[in-house]
Amino acid sequence: MNRSPVWHPFTQHGLEPPMKRVVSAKGAFLVDEEGSHLFDAISSWWVITHGHRHPAIMAAIRAATETFDQIIFAEFSHEPAETLARGLIALAPAGLEHVFYSDSGSTAVEVALKMALGYCHNRGEKRDRIVVMEHGYHGDTIGTMSTGERGVFNAAYEPLLFGVDRLAFPEAGNEQRTLDLFEACCRSGRVAALLIEPLVLGAGGMKIYGADVLAGLKQIAERHGCLVIADEVMTGWGRTGTLFACERAGIAPDILCTSKGLTGGSLPLAATLCSAEIFDAHVSTDRRKTFFHSSSYTANPIACAAAVANLQVWRDEPVLARIEQVQQALRDNLRRFAGDQRFVSIRQAGTIAALDLVVPAGGYLADAGPRMRQLFRERGFIIRPLGNVIYLMPPYCSTAQDLARAFDAIDEVAGIVTETAPPKARAAGTV
Ligand code: PLP
Repeated sequence: MNRSPVWHPFTQHGLEPPMKRVVSAKGAFLVDEEGSHLFDAISSWWVITHGHRHPAIMAAIRAATETFDQIIFAEFSHEPAETLARGLIALAPAGLEHVFYSDSGSTAVEVALKMALGYCHNRGEKRDRIVVMEHGYHGDTIGTMSTGERGVFNAAYEPLLFGVDRLAFPEAGNEQRTLDLFEACCRSGRVAALLIEPLVLGAGGMKIYGADVLAGLKQIAERHGCLVIADEVMTGWGRTGTLFACERAGIAPDILCTSKGLTGGSLPLAATLCSAEIFDAHVSTDRRKTFFHSSSYTANPIACAAAVANLQVWRDEPVLARIEQVQQALRDNLRRFAGDQRFVSIRQAGTIAALDLVVPAGGYLADAGPRMRQLFRERGFIIRPLGNVIYLMPPYCSTAQDLARAFDAIDEVAGIVTETAPPKARAAGTV
């Protein structure tokens, strides 16, 4: 057996065929070793925003390597980290004034949780509970798994996970229940923070809820003196149509986590932004009040330079106009499935489009998921359904033709998996 030493993430090696190698990437496409061009319809796990290898970001990386590699980030700082922090603060919701760097979405959230608990601890407040939303996903470290949905992904690690309070997902028409549950949690006086994915719960199945719910949760948190941590690791950098999803609800969280699109998807980097109040609670002549967190590669200068270039791309190029075009194309294409019995919950938030295939056994482990993935690959698309949830989250350089072809593939693959022919005449409708 040609067994590679590489252990791939979220991969059942006992079932998967050997991995094909990618030999290059450009724009919205990857090229594999056989020369096949694959449309990266999920932005390589949601990180690629403008497209693969944006020239300005690649140039900034090359330039940074002339001067820097990793630099110790305690006792010293460097220009890319300083410039990036100022740039992020200028773009982020008001009131976020300090930036702590790490290297992945999971670590950005871990840092946020520690900031929130450290803030309460240093102020002598006995607040030690974290509130999260059902179906949430915040990463795969022990801390972030504790705050995410429990299930097959973390059953083996359950003994190590800590308890959190969970709010029911605000299903349409039932939003008040979620707000009431949060208010009830807050009344205990023990809640340090609400940790939430704003507007879209990504890995939990692209579940979308309203901006008014987010605004309502923030109001309740303010009334009860608990912090709001916005996990914008997936929703940030334009995915929901605005730079950060919090903007859509008009809220400023106390802590904001960003990663993925921070460098345009070019290099790993994460940032946890927080209010001056949270930073100040850690500033003291008492060393015990230090924020005790670091990782060796904190604020890697080359990654920071890539992120600075990404911010410049946002300033110089019509990124929001491109996002609008992608949104429009997704909306137009989703419309063709309205009234199609093979799908339910046809939905969209900005550049994220999702629809659930009706299969006898749904859920993440539904056989339909890997089967569809394989069929998409054979047709030249990287689309990785979450169980029976088919979604697209394409780079912003995707053309209307790329997207129309991806929806043709969804139509065909759904027909194969459900053993139904695509309906001939589709009712026009809205999504
Ligand atoms: N938070 C959210 C909302 C995410 O979607 C993800 C990853 O998909 C993470 C955190 C974890 O990020 P990473 O995989 O970079 O650790």
